[in-house]
Amino acid sequence: MPATPAWPPQSTPRLFVEARLSDGADVRIEGGQAHYLSNVMRLKEGAPVKLFDDQTGEWLAEVAATGKRDMVLRVVAQLRPREDVPDLWLLAAPVKKARLDMVVEKACELGVALYRPVITRRTIIERLNMDRLRATMVEAAEQCGRTALPRIEEAVKLPALLRDWPADRTLYFADEEGGVPFAEVAKAGPAAILIGPEGGFDTDERAAIKALPQAVGVSLGPRILRAETAAIAALSVWMAKAGDWS
Ligand code: SAH
Repeated sequence: MPATPAWPPQSTPRLFVEARLSDGADVRIEGGQAHYLSNVMRLKEGAPVKLFDDQTGEWLAEVAATGKRDMVLRVVAQLRPREDVPDLWLLAAPVKKARLDMVVEKACELGVALYRPVITRRTIIERLNMDRLRATMVEAAEQCGRTALPRIEEAVKLPALLRDWPADRTLYFADEEGGVPFAEVAKAGPAAILIGPEGGFDTDERAAIKALPQAVGVSLGPRILRAETAAIAALSVWMAKAGDWS
């Protein structure tokens, strides 16, 4: 872990911007971000802001000009390069809105590289607002200090997911009916965690997942966890054993 620089102070606002950042660049921000910095944080000219772009890392910038609806930030110096994120995907059947937001937020904080909703037979959520999920991811990344955004992919049906499964990626399948304790088998390398919906996988789905050579059925203990708890617990176990927590 790189040491946290003493300047800017910890409370400095931190924002994701789409523009590619470089030394001395001016970045114009508008809308919610400009409103947040000028009306909520009340930043004046010269105030420090941290920016990251998911491409070049994190930079220190300062307010160069403030307008009614926009603001110009001038990039002053690079603080950190873009990080390498452990190669872990979260594949989870979507749960209800507030719970799904929580899963996505926590997955981002815990260090996942990609989130993709998986539609199973017992999945009850039909419409997913991908833009909202992306916004939740960005907010979590701003808050937790990530310099790389997790990728979010469109929902996929379970059979298609299994059919196109990459040969080199282990699929840890969280099975409430029993499996190897996850902490015993979690290994580094390309990996994914698959979590079922509130109603669980049906018999055919379970058989299809288990038939995949890369699948490893894993247990998260003797209790039945809610889908969102299972996702957060599984990500934590993998990160602690095989990710970047040590
Ligand atoms: N079929 C269950 C509930 C499923 S829980 C029932 O209705 O009784 C939702 C998902 O969380 C499961 O599909 C599984 O992927 C995961 N999960 C919950 N508890 C688990 C455990 N103890 N071990 C492994 N996975 C678990």
